Amino acid sequence: MSRRFVAGETLDDAVYAARKCNDLGMMTSLDYLGENVSTTTDAQRARDAYLEIFDRIAVEKLDANVSCKLTQMGLDLSPEFCEGLVLSVVERAASYGNFLRVDMEGSTYTQRTVELVKRIRSRNAAIGTVIQSYLYRSEKDIQDLLGYRCRIRLCKGAYKEGVDVAFERKQDVDGNYVRLMQQLLSSGVYHGIATHDPKMIGETIRWAAETRVSKDDFEFQMLYGIRTDLQRRLVKGGFRVRVYIPYGQDWFPYFMRRLAERPANIGFLVRNLFRG
Ligand SMILES: Cc1cc2nc3c(=O)[nH]c(=O)nc-3n(C[C@H](O)[C@H](O)[C@H](O)COP(=O)(O)OP(=O)(O)OC[C@H]3O[C@@H](n4cnc5c(N)ncnc54)[C@H](O)[C@@H]3O)c2cc1C
Repeated sequence: MSRRFVAGETLDDAVYAARKCNDLGMMTSLDYLGENVSTTTDAQRARDAYLEIFDRIAVEKLDANVSCKLTQMGLDLSPEFCEGLVLSVVERAASYGNFLRVDMEGSTYTQRTVELVKRIRSRNAAIGTVIQSYLYRSEKDIQDLLGYRCRIRLCKGAYKEGVDVAFERKQDVDGNYVRLMQQLLSSGVYHGIATHDPKMIGETIRWAAETRVSKDDFEFQMLYGIRTDLQRRLVKGGFRVRVYIPYGQDWFPYFMRRLAERPANIGFLVRNLFRG
C-alpha cells in the first residue's frame, strides 16, 4: 500500500521513478527515507547512502537533486557530528553542480536546522532548506535565510504541532502560505513552491504574472503519487515542476504522515486491507 507514495526500497527503484518523471518533463528530488537514528554508525550509513545517490544521479544523467533529514544524519546525537556529515554530502553535491535540500522536521528541530543550514550555506551554495507556513516563526526564518541567499522550499507543514507554535486553522496556514510565497518570489532567489493545493498554486501563478517573475525563476514541487494530473498540467503550462521521490526501507513514518494529512487516505488504507 505504501507503494502509492514511495517509489520502492532500493536506489534502483528511485532511479527508475526519476527517469519516468524526467521523461514527462519533470525534475525530481530523491529522498532516502530515514529519521531519528540512534547511533553514529546509522548516521554515517545514511551519509554514505547520500554520497552514493549523488554519484548515481551523475552516472545516470538524471535531472534530480536530493532531499535529506538532519535527524537521519545524527542531529539528535550531536549537532557538530551531524554538521560534519552534511557538509561532506554538500561538498559531493557541489562537485557535480548539484544541490542538497534539508527537509524541515518537527518544530523542536527548526532552530537547529536553520542554524546548521546557515553555517553550511555561508561556505557552500549547494544547500537549501524548507520553511513551513503553519509555524508562527516562519516569516522571521525566511528573512534570516534570505540574508544568506538561501534557496527555500515553502510547504504547509506535515507534523503535529501545538497552538503555542503553529496556526491551527487551515485558513490561517493558507493565508500565511500566500504571504510567504509572495516574499520568496520577490526575493530574486530561486525557490520551490511545494503544494498540491490548487488555490496556493493559482495564487502563485497570479503573483508571478503580476510581479513579472518569470516561470523559469521558481519551481513547483509535489510529492510522488499525489496529484499527478496537476503535475502534468503545470508542465504543459510551461511551469517548472519537481517531484519529490522517497525510497528506502524506512518508509513507515513518511507513509503515516501522508495518511494523516488526508482523511480520504484512511479509506484507501481500509479498502486495501479488506481487499488483501
Ligand atoms: C515537495 C514537497 C516536499 C515537502 N517537504 C516537507 C518538509 O520538509 N517538511 C514538512 O513538514 N512537510 C513537507 N511537505 C509536506 C507538506 O508540508 C504538506 O503536509 C503536504 O504537502 C500537504 O499539503 P498541501 O500543500 O498539498 O495542501 P493541503 O491543503 O493539505 O492539500 C491540498 C490537496 O492536495 C492533495 N493532497 C495533499 N496531501 C495529500 C495526501 N497525503 N494524499 C493525497 N492527496 C493529498 C489533496 O487533493 C488536497 O485536497 C512537503 C510537500 C511537498 C509537496
